[in-house]
Amino acid sequence: MLSPTFLILANLMDEVLLSQETCVITFIDFVAAFDSVSHKFLEAALLEAGASEKSRAMFKAIYSKSTARIRLKTPGGEEVFSSPFPVDRGVLQGDIFSPLCFIVALESIMRKHGGAGSVTALGLLIDRLEYADDAALIDANAEQASERVTRLYEGALQDADMEISAPKTEVMFCRPRVDTGEITAEAYGEEELEALNVRLDFKCRHCGRGFDSHHGCRIHEERHCKVAELETFEEEFEIEEILEARGSPERRFYLVKWEGYDAEESTWEHHRNLESAEENNSKVKEFLDSEVFPALSAQLQAAVLRVDGENRCPDCNKDFRTDRALKGHITKRCPLAVASRVGSRAETAVAKARQVAVQEAAGKVTMGEHALINAFNFRYLGFHFQADGDRRPALLQRMAIARTRFGELHEAWRSKRMPTSMKLRLYACAVVSVLTYGSEIWRLDEKTKAKIRGWNARCLSVITGRSIRDETVDPSFDMVSRLRSRRLRWAGHILRLEESSLIRKVLIAVAAREIESGCKDDGGLLADAPAFGSVEQLLEVAGDRDEWRVGVIGLLPATDPCVQQWERRQSKLDKEVARLYEAQMEKDLVFRG
Ligand SMILES: [Zn+2]
Ligand SMILES: [Zn+2]
Repeated sequence: MLSPTFLILANLMDEVLLSQETCVITFIDFVAAFDSVSHKFLEAALLEAGASEKSRAMFKAIYSKSTARIRLKTPGGEEVFSSPFPVDRGVLQGDIFSPLCFIVALESIMRKHGGAGSVTALGLLIDRLEYADDAALIDANAEQASERVTRLYEGALQDADMEISAPKTEVMFCRPRVDTGEITAEAYGEEELEALNVRLDFKCRHCGRGFDSHHGCRIHEERHCKVAELETFEEEFEIEEILEARGSPERRFYLVKWEGYDAEESTWEHHRNLESAEENNSKVKEFLDSEVFPALSAQLQAAVLRVDGENRCPDCNKDFRTDRALKGHITKRCPLAVASRVGSRAETAVAKARQVAVQEAAGKVTMGEHALINAFNFRYLGFHFQADGDRRPALLQRMAIARTRFGELHEAWRSKRMPTSMKLRLYACAVVSVLTYGSEIWRLDEKTKAKIRGWNARCLSVITGRSIRDETVDPSFDMVSRLRSRRLRWAGHILRLEESSLIRKVLIAVAAREIESGCKDDGGLLADAPAFGSVEQLLEVAGDRDEWRVGVIGLLPATDPCVQQWERRQSKLDKEVARLYEAQMEKDLVFRG
């Protein structure tokens, strides 16, 4: 069963951000958790948790006389064993009893040393989340978080021999996205990128623009680079001398005096034109060493060269009479203008790096004397959580994983012998299930649905051979319906959990808020639930498993394999009921007779 704690965390973050508040989440990481818990502590924890005499006896039987030996190889290649020594900590890996023991132990530690927080969301106090060895503390501020995690650290070590890892325990300051300003062309300068630790190491050989992948760089060089389109230097002209230089290192222009022409006929040339020939290159070098720019040190070569009084375009080097004329040229788009980076991967990387940088400054949580790492993204139970509550990275992550799985099955998709219907079933089992894992935390709004439809259509078009457009409008496998159905089924499952369950309380609180505010949350888990006027009504409908299932199935198109399976089962059931009925009738008749 999928742990609901990630859904609680998602709702908690939504709620905190919605009410313009902040909170601090500390994701605890125990060092070799299962290997280090002390047996003595475990025994006490089992007793405390009310474990039966029998299960405690079982525990003792497994662990009280446990010993270990070390196998060694002598220089002669012979295997020898050390003498046995007692083992008084750690639980057996792969034993079904172990995780249970461990959860009991961790719960005991958390109860004793986890302290209490003060963050309430949806009217519920949520101060810690636990799932197996994944635990998180929720606090209102850094001081409270520091105090609680320090107490837990000390307590766990003292009572149970369990150590919390300082480098692996991360802190997330959940707060609204900080505006880090516009990302201008200057943001992609060497120094600026280095300060943000963004690497764009693949440089265009024409204009010097950096990319994060070889592939991206090649696409740019072949299709988009304006500088690459410049007419290359024709060989019959020979450089006599280079007179001057202007511009940035990537867009350097040289004033060239041509062999056999007057100095007045000298022209400004982009460095690419000169560097194309080895011989010309030496002219450039000669120039750099010459007297024209006597102080042209390495530092100056890396600088932007300009002369006061000139109004040169930084991209094409054209000189304008006035500053206004230059501005006009730039707004009207210079033919050599650096292409916009809006929407590019580089822009995304810079925007994210800026958020990571401001996150560092959000505050400091300390555990004893260790300062914990501030995370902007954190993988909790395998799901991407982002400090600003944006759930899109979680979706993109699943899409990337599912896309890889889809690629791995390329032979099946291309197979001539497998019928399309079987391919679609394979797609549903092997690919869609990978994509939808944890989809309960997505905000299934229109934008997200459109993104999923597009993703699905691209995959389907490979399988069915129909166009991507057709697979978007009328998909052979309706992924969005499948998702809605799955989410509704999960919502029903949660509502039927026992009353003390936290996730059930959270979902009920969400429903209560919807009723109160009078507006339905379109992207929420209850978006497709039957209309309800009160929480009681919702619980009543959810309580009727069969009726809820009708709603779940109703969301799917008739062609969905799930529906067909359901119908087969239904008709089998109908037949069974009819058979029983007839048998009863017969009996009745016999009786009467
Ligand atoms: Zn380029
Ligand atoms: Zn220009």
